[in-house]
Amino acid sequence: MDEKKKILIVEDEKDISEILAYNIQRQGYEVDTAFDGETGLEKALSGVFDLILLDVMLPKMDGFEICKRVREKLQTPIIILTAREEENDKIMGLDLGADDYMTKPFSIGELASRIKANIRRYSGELKKLGESTVSDGTVIKVGELVIDTENVSVRKGGKEIALSKKEYDLLCFLAKNRGSKFPQDKLLESVWGYGGYYDLRTVDVTVRRIRQKIEDDPSSPKYILNMRSVGYYITEN
Ligand code: CA
Repeated sequence: MDEKKKILIVEDEKDISEILAYNIQRQGYEVDTAFDGETGLEKALSGVFDLILLDVMLPKMDGFEICKRVREKLQTPIIILTAREEENDKIMGLDLGADDYMTKPFSIGELASRIKANIRRYSGELKKLGESTVSDGTVIKVGELVIDTENVSVRKGGKEIALSKKEYDLLCFLAKNRGSKFPQDKLLESVWGYGGYYDLRTVDVTVRRIRQKIEDDPSSPKYILNMRSVGYYITEN
């Protein structure tokens, strides 16, 4: 039998934390909890978790700060739990490298499917995006970028670039389908897979983040290009 996947819940409201923990355990996961930001960060950085559920408003350190610090070291999937409806919160969370977000209150069923989807992506069980199109073997080269789809790593000039799972998935998808242009909604469907649930800006935010990491000059990108009202693409040469 597979080893149980481990989920960290960082949530200061004990009632909510308990309900989450109870239900997530029932789905067959192992759960650990933290009730403040500092403890949450410390546990998250232990690297033993397969996914982190992260509340935003927390004592000692907020969820955004935790997200940012975790991303400096680890690519563990992070789902932000926000009580606020504000669009900015979602964009900010994704901008700091979170993989997903949910606005409270949400159903346990929905949470369970998001957890499952994010863990599957992270474990690489879902790497079938555009696989038939390009690439000889497991390495895709785009300019100075070397995308190793077997080790799920991206290097530029020999230096490893730390991308979140979604950033990686998006870059990889475009690289495997070089030359083809994809509008935002198509990318949401192919890379995020939630069929229209997301804000289209999620794609723009993720592209911006990737550009900050891979481009010499993010304001005049050479890798991921955008043709107005047609879509994002990576050129063939
Ligand atoms: Ca809270």
